[in-house]
Amino acid sequence: MVVNGERARILVTVKAAPQPSAKYGDTVCVAGIRVDTGEHDWVRLYPVPFRWLDANSQFGKYDIVELFMRRRTQDSRKESYVPDTQSIRVSQHLDGWEERTPFINDVALTTTCRLMSEAETDHAAPSLGMVSVAELIDFTLEEHPGWSAEEQAKIDRSMAAGEMDVFGTSTQPTKLRAPRVKLRYRYRCHEERCPGHFGQNLDWELRAFQNRFHSDSIGRLKERVEQRFVDMMFSPKRSTSFFMGNFEAAIKRSKFSVLGVYWPPAGVASKVTLF
Ligand SMILES: [Zn+2]
Repeated sequence: MVVNGERARILVTVKAAPQPSAKYGDTVCVAGIRVDTGEHDWVRLYPVPFRWLDANSQFGKYDIVELFMRRRTQDSRKESYVPDTQSIRVSQHLDGWEERTPFINDVALTTTCRLMSEAETDHAAPSLGMVSVAELIDFTLEEHPGWSAEEQAKIDRSMAAGEMDVFGTSTQPTKLRAPRVKLRYRYRCHEERCPGHFGQNLDWELRAFQNRFHSDSIGRLKERVEQRFVDMMFSPKRSTSFFMGNFEAAIKRSKFSVLGVYWPPAGVASKVTLF
């Protein structure tokens, strides 16, 4: 598919859960921060048929990757790029919170209130951002209805065809498992008059966690999810932020979801200074 483009070094902070795709089997939205330009610009890489990539192109959250990419011109969100997936190489993994801090603390914080209001009026407004959570009000954990008929058809088609040679890979992953639960946070950002927001957690980590405990009852699974994705990540000893992103569709531009949670010990995180 894409050949060459611009060379970039990106710290991956977001790897969203795979979604069925008509064209690519299933794809993942990846986002991160450029570490080769000094500007710490946000970059969204799409499509990444992650599960179909060769092992040496697969990467994790908090990996620094090198790749070629080009602007995704059909997407007016300025952060969107199409990666040359064959060119992706992991150059470093930032293992602990201390190692991530020097990079993440340089990222400008914003608020969900601001992301939403800017996206409503301006198509070129930021579509990705890091938001410090002022207060977790509560959360909801609902049973997921599973794939829709349309999503299931996309999955079946891609598995039957094994057609991922558009990426030049021979990897054939297992059938994409539907999520069993949906987690939404209700929280306030640091904007003075913040009315509170709902944000669904779309992180692949949450999907993988559910897959790991697939033989659990729904009740037990919910307990486990709550323990890790609520109690642990929002412990008073943590300083918790969200990596937020919106949707490509124009009518959904002002809707932002939680693409990832950043939850270092309070002493490690930067102080919340907005603006
Ligand atoms: Zn707010």
